[in-house]
Amino acid sequence: MDAQTPLVTFEDVTFSYGPTTAVEHVSFTVEPGDFVALIGPNGSGKTTLLKLALGLERPQHGRVLLFGQEIDQFKEWHRIGYVPQQASAFKVRFPATVGEVVSYGEYRGFDPLAIFRTGISPAVEGALHTVDMWEYRQRLVSELSTGQQQRLLIARALVHQPALLMLDEPTAGVDVAGQDQFYTLLRQLCRDQGTTVLLVSHDVGVVLHEATKVVCINRTLVFHGSAQEVTDADLSRLYGFSVDLIIHRHQ
Ligand code: ADP
Repeated sequence: MDAQTPLVTFEDVTFSYGPTTAVEHVSFTVEPGDFVALIGPNGSGKTTLLKLALGLERPQHGRVLLFGQEIDQFKEWHRIGYVPQQASAFKVRFPATVGEVVSYGEYRGFDPLAIFRTGISPAVEGALHTVDMWEYRQRLVSELSTGQQQRLLIARALVHQPALLMLDEPTAGVDVAGQDQFYTLLRQLCRDQGTTVLLVSHDVGVVLHEATKVVCINRTLVFHGSAQEVTDADLSRLYGFSVDLIIHRHQ
């Protein structure tokens, strides 16, 4: 793989859940250093594309490459960090601290002893500092605000210093200040550490402001290009109504 190899490649990908075609003939790439926003209305196939990129589903047609490799051959999963939708993330049934939850991100595969390990490794400490949560390391996860929980999930995804960070609608339920902090963090990761970001979002106005590239999906690909080039007409085609106001409200 050379420096220009795309980190994610969708090549004419079609995927159906039984009779429901979720994505159809979709092709696009995520290049190193990009901050890509994947946008589209509810049910347009965004989460399905992430599942395909994480190898959780296989396309019926076309192919998905990660770091230039066929996904079936890809083994370097530590190079990818994944931040799930916050609501589905914390099903922790025991009183875990911030430090412990981020530490679980360090162990790959099933590690029955993980919860008994004590101490915080330098990698975990670094990840907690990156998201500005170091001082919360002894705090119980159940005592965190929604925005703090979301930063915790990002810290967990950052423990392996991934080259590619994929996030699924991560700002749902996070207040405006928390969102601001979140986008600042993503910008810093992308600009200062060269982390490539693929962000699924419903928040069109904000992501057009933050992302360098945009993928608009509505089962088929509506637009793929630089965030500056996406037009009101593309967005109206995507959402089926004028989104003029939504974009300008955030500028
Ligand atoms: P988005 O993330 O953009 O809201 P999804 O990728 O979740 O969209 O869904 C795309 C389409 O696939 C929708 O029509 C949805 O109802 C359907 N779908 C998603 N998951 C499943 C599933 N597990 N079984 C059947 N249909 C599904």
